[in-house]
Amino acid sequence: MDCKEINKMIPAFLNKELSGRELDDFMEHISKCPECKEELSIQFLVLEGMVSLQDGNTFDLRKRLDKQLDEARRKIRIRKGVHFFVYGLEILAIITMIIIIVLIMVL
Ligand SMILES: [Zn+2]
Repeated sequence: MDCKEINKMIPAFLNKELSGRELDDFMEHISKCPECKEELSIQFLVLEGMVSLQDGNTFDLRKRLDKQLDEARRKIRIRKGVHFFVYGLEILAIITMIIIIVLIMVL
C-alpha cells in the first residue's frame, strides 16, 4: 500500500472504522513511514482538537493518539491470536482424523 492510500484511510482509522486486514496494513505502514505518521497526528489533532474545544477538555491530545494506536495494535494482536488458535484447532482435527484412520486400519 502506498502513502496516498494510507492517507485516504486516516479518517476511517480515527473513526475506528478500520478492521482486519485494512487495520493491519494501516498500522504496518504507519510504523514505518514518518510522513504518514505525521499526517495521522495532524488529522487527529484537528479532529480531536475541535471536539476538545467544544467540551472545554484540552488534556494531552498526543497521549490520546498514542492510546488509540495502542488499541489498534492490541486489536491486531488479538486477531492474530484468534487465527493462531483456529489454525491450532485445524491441526488438532487433522491429527485426530489421522489417528482414527490409523486405528481403523490397525484394528
Ligand atoms: Zn506513507
